[in-house]
Amino acid sequence: MRDLIQLLPDNVANQIAAGEVVQRPASVVKELLENAIDAGAKNIQLIVKDAGKTLIQVIDNGKGMSENDLRMAFERHATSKIRSANDLFNLTTMGFRGEALASIAAVAQVRCSSRMADDEVASTVEINGGKLTNYGQDALPVGTSLEVKNLFFNIPARRQFLKKDQVEINHITDEFQRVALANPQVAFRFFHNNAELFNLPISKPKLRIVNIFGKKYDQRLVPVDEQTEHLRIRGFVGKPDSAKKRRGEQFFFVNNRFIKSPFLHHAVQKAFTDLIPHGYHPSYFLFFDVDPATIDVNIHPTKTEIKFTDENMVFAMLASAVKHGLGKHNVAPSLDFELGSTFTLPKSDPNRPVKMPEIKVNSDYNPFSNPTPGKNIGHAAHNPKSNPEEWASIMPRDIPDIGPIKPMVPEENGMGNTQVEVDDVNDFSGMVEKFGGKFLLCIHGDQLHFIHPRRAHERILFEAYNKELSRKTAPSQQLLFPQTIDLSADEKIRITPWLSEMTGFGFDVEINENQLNFYGLPVNLNESSLPEVMEALLDDLQDGGQWDSNHFHQKLIRNLAKNSAIRNIKNLQKEELNHLAEALFLCDEPFISLHGKPTVFTVTINELEKYFN
Ligand code: ADP
Ligand code: MG
Repeated sequence: MRDLIQLLPDNVANQIAAGEVVQRPASVVKELLENAIDAGAKNIQLIVKDAGKTLIQVIDNGKGMSENDLRMAFERHATSKIRSANDLFNLTTMGFRGEALASIAAVAQVRCSSRMADDEVASTVEINGGKLTNYGQDALPVGTSLEVKNLFFNIPARRQFLKKDQVEINHITDEFQRVALANPQVAFRFFHNNAELFNLPISKPKLRIVNIFGKKYDQRLVPVDEQTEHLRIRGFVGKPDSAKKRRGEQFFFVNNRFIKSPFLHHAVQKAFTDLIPHGYHPSYFLFFDVDPATIDVNIHPTKTEIKFTDENMVFAMLASAVKHGLGKHNVAPSLDFELGSTFTLPKSDPNRPVKMPEIKVNSDYNPFSNPTPGKNIGHAAHNPKSNPEEWASIMPRDIPDIGPIKPMVPEENGMGNTQVEVDDVNDFSGMVEKFGGKFLLCIHGDQLHFIHPRRAHERILFEAYNKELSRKTAPSQQLLFPQTIDLSADEKIRITPWLSEMTGFGFDVEINENQLNFYGLPVNLNESSLPEVMEALLDDLQDGGQWDSNHFHQKLIRNLAKNSAIRNIKNLQKEELNHLAEALFLCDEPFISLHGKPTVFTVTINELEKYFN
């Protein structure tokens, strides 16, 4: 036989092509939601079971399909949205390739019912792995309901490849949020395993953001709106003081299509230069309305990149628009910004006084609820202002109480008592002093140590929490007034599976609606640090990776240690300094910080001798 080439059977070809469009449940969600939007729906419901592995259903009240169209819709390259290649340059819909439904139907069990306004009843089709298995009529309201069951049932290798439910539902949530953000004129509800995750009424764009990401965004956002002949940039950016260490909510939409663009991201980042500390990220929700002719839309079905014809102009305009938005609301130095019909780069006026961006840092921050001002040197035990209960909270309970170590300083009566007492526990000489206002200096046997206090304290707390973890005993300190942390729907999804794990660390916490209520905290955690700990943890949880409990514990412990550690030693008493040094040297890894940096710089007698020789 000389001729070897054969055409693939349709269903095999479709399965292969489907791989391009349908990578995971979230891809199905995206396609179905976009179809509902294209159909002009004002009300869309997303119903998901088992992170989309069992069921993804979208019900819309859009214009529906005729009986014939309903069958056609599942053919490859069947679309009502474009008729010729020219239409590609004039796209007003999300879909246009006519591939999604055919692809989805090739790799799942699909049932679709649809009814147009003129029809008495809805038509229904069932398609199983690309084959029409049933059709008929149903009594349904106008619109379309599409159920996708058992995704990849006929491609076991793909099905096995799906990630844990938590990961897949995060992807679905991402897609849902993108569509919901771009379409505040549409009401959305999203159910997962019978729990309602989102209920978003029709609203203004800003309220849509707040409804998705939580009440705190109400105060955080400033509007951006600039327009030239060919481009309009509108939306919101987060105020600089709400910037986060983790990339927070960052969204670009071009003609209502979500896109990713490092290039545009850079432009926003540029506008925030000097307004936020290095390593922090602003949030933004920015919409570009452009003439479809000026962008290349004929992109890969799942691609989120886009190409502008005049990228540099877009870059400059975006950076300026954001600056302008920030300036208008007095959160940034304002620039002269005159936009004519043709876009020009803003020039800053040399005669105009420039207001330096302010980043508020409270250098006086002291984690102790009731700081003792002034006196830094003195015999702690004789100092009536020094309250051991205050500093006890900075030390993990693990540190054996070796009692106050007498300092080598004159007594307060000025008698010049220079007696040195050496505590024999741990061979600790007990001379701990502040050095340069920033470091601790102490003698330990024949070594002289300079300690970095914050890193040291982080290390101490970190090890103490880890010990608690291994003993599974973490006492909780009950709060007089419960503290609440608001959650966005998204954060709620991410944190819920881990709440029981938090109890093991001394958190007494309950979830209710979109709030976490804390009734008790780990003993070492200062109440005022709770918001920071939780924000960092929620940010960590956003990284989408697969988390097991070990991973979660380590993240939580690190956050706790970081946020409960002292920031400076200004108000620390002698005795507190001693305890800090002691506790550090009792650690398993006293010399390395949680971030791999040194905690201690040491000079030994040998080194000294060498130096003098
Ligand atoms: P595309 O969206 O690229 O046209 P799809 O495969 O997603 O391709 O959909 C094929 C066609 O099915 C659409 O062009 C549209 O006419 C019709 N369709 C799909 N979903 C809906 C819906 N929810 N309501 C009305 N019509 C729909
Ligand atoms: Mg489509």
